[in-house]
Parts: sequence; C-alpha cells; structure tokens
Amino acid sequence: MKITLDPGHGRLSNRGVDPTYYEGTRMFLLAGFLKEELEKYEDVTVNVTRKTLDDDPSLEKRGRMARDLGSELFISLHSNAAGSEKACGVSLYRSVKLEGSEKLAHLLADGAVSVINEKTGVTYKRGVKTRTYDENGKTYDYYGVIRNSVGGSVKYSYIIEHGFHTNERECAFLQSDENLKSLAKKHAETIAEYFSLKKRKEEGEYTEYTVRTGDTLSEIAKRYGTDYRSLAKYNGIQDPDRIYTGQIVKIPSEQSDGKMIRKGDTVRLKDSAKTYYPGGKSFKSWVREYDFIVGKTVDSKGREVFKGGEKCVLLGEKINRKTKKTAPSINTWCSIENLDKIN
Ligand SMILES: [Zn+2]
Repeated sequence: MKITLDPGHGRLSNRGVDPTYYEGTRMFLLAGFLKEELEKYEDVTVNVTRKTLDDDPSLEKRGRMARDLGSELFISLHSNAAGSEKACGVSLYRSVKLEGSEKLAHLLADGAVSVINEKTGVTYKRGVKTRTYDENGKTYDYYGVIRNSVGGSVKYSYIIEHGFHTNERECAFLQSDENLKSLAKKHAETIAEYFSLKKRKEEGEYTEYTVRTGDTLSEIAKRYGTDYRSLAKYNGIQDPDRIYTGQIVKIPSEQSDGKMIRKGDTVRLKDSAKTYYPGGKSFKSWVREYDFIVGKTVDSKGREVFKGGEKCVLLGEKINRKTKKTAPSINTWCSIENLDKIN
C-alpha cells in the first residue's frame, strides 16, 4: 500500500514553550522515523511531502501529492498550540468525506495517547473530530491538507496533533528523538495491524531448533527442506554426527519459513503425496483435501499422539469407500514431508 506522510509547516515554524522547539522541525523528524518503521512491512511505500527540512510546500500541494501518488492513507503530522500552557492532549481530525475512516482514526489517537502519556502523565484523548465549513450549500473539510487530499485513491486522511508544544511536559516529550521513535513505532504498529501488513524478512534471520533425544542433523535438515551439510556449515558444527540433546540449531529463515510443522498448525496434504502409513494406499481416497489439524488427535485412551517426529497425524473426515459416507474424524499417520504448512 502507498502512504503519504506530511510533516506540518516549515523548518522554523511554530516555536514551543521550550524556545528551541520548532513544530516544523520536530514533525519532519517524526515523519522520517515513521517512514522507516512503516517500510519494515511488506509492500509499503511511503512518500513524504517535504523532501528536505527546508521544504515547505503549500497545503494544497501537500494534499494533492497523496492523491497524485495513489496513496491510500494520508497523515499530516503536527503538534498543537494554545494560549494557555495548561492545554494538552491528542486530537485527530479526519475528512468528513471519507466514511469508514473513523476506526483507524481512533486507533491512531489512542496509540499516540498511550505513548505520550506514559512520559508526561497529563496527555489524554481530546477526540477524533471532523471540521467543516459550508459554501453554496455544500460542505467542505476545513483544513486545506485534508480537503486537497480527498479524492481518487485516498481513503484515510488525517491530521494528528501529537500534544501541545505550548504545554511544558508535552513539548519536552516531543523534544526527545527517542520519544519520537517510540511514537513512530506505535503508529506503524497500529497501521500494520489495521491493514494486516506483514513484516519484511530481515537478512540473516533464523529460527532456533532445540535438539531432542534421538535427533540427527540430517533428520532435522530434512524436516526443514535442507541438507545436513549446509546446516552444519551455517551452525559451525564440525562433526555432523555429533549433536546433543538441548543443543540449539539455527535454521536460516529461507529454510524455516513455512516448512516446520508444529502441533496446532494447519496443514494440507501435498499433491505429490502418494502414501500413507501403514499401508501404501492413496491418501486421497481416505481423507478429504482440505484443512487438517496436526497433533490435536488422541488415541483410544485420549492421549495426544503427535510427537513432532517424522510422522504426524491428520484429523479430517474419513470417507467410507463402500457407503461414500463420511465419518467425523480420522487419525492417520503420514510422513511430515507429505504435508504443506498453510498458516
Ligand atoms: Zn501544526
């Protein structure tokens, strides 16, 4: 998905109670952190309306950029100001034109409040609002950035006021880079959760496997779709015949991804699967091809059967070949290699 972030104002705009605070500078920094956090997720591209700290495009240009770039989400980042130093809290303005944008608005506001209030002790949710004006019998969004962003691809258009820079505590909060990073992280997590975004795999990621009694390196490798030589090399194991119970074996992510089947996983029988155990009959004649659950099954005494070894058990429906009727459950052993993990 495409996202446009708009750090409000220009470099030296809007001083805070702390005279070294400038809204336009701090929000530029926040946008940078947020872009970085958001781009940790798959298929996310983030455009920032100000390319440099000194950029200060018009409100119209900022909003239009979101539309022109095909963004789905537009967020203008701000801190608030008031005559009274007591005023504090988080406000979020959303477009009156975009129905369905209210839920995410609340989630983002709540997230910001939780992060800021943890440090300030005073920050609260002032509200999620729309602000409009009427002209010639028509209603328009009051804020230029929001008004100009709406149309085309944009489905969510927000201004978030991250506390007041005229409030001592909130201004102090926004002056810390670490705090802005926490805020960025929270916003990114909220957005990721809302849109079900997946984290990108980072290079060098691996899964840890703990060796159990009776395991051999080649068995472990087989289970993850690799071979013992590369696993030994990856782990710096000199003698592949010597591994011990409790040893941690690192499985590179390209191997572990989707390969390891554990209790509770949802699996599907591979098309290539031809055998079942015991016997040698075709699986397909016995078990319907849809989602099966691994490991939940029990023997006649109610004990769990799955042990995480070479074999695993499928639960599904059994089709009686004579009567063509289905039985409510079946537990059948098959090799774990015959299964694909699908969750
Ligand atoms: Zn502002």
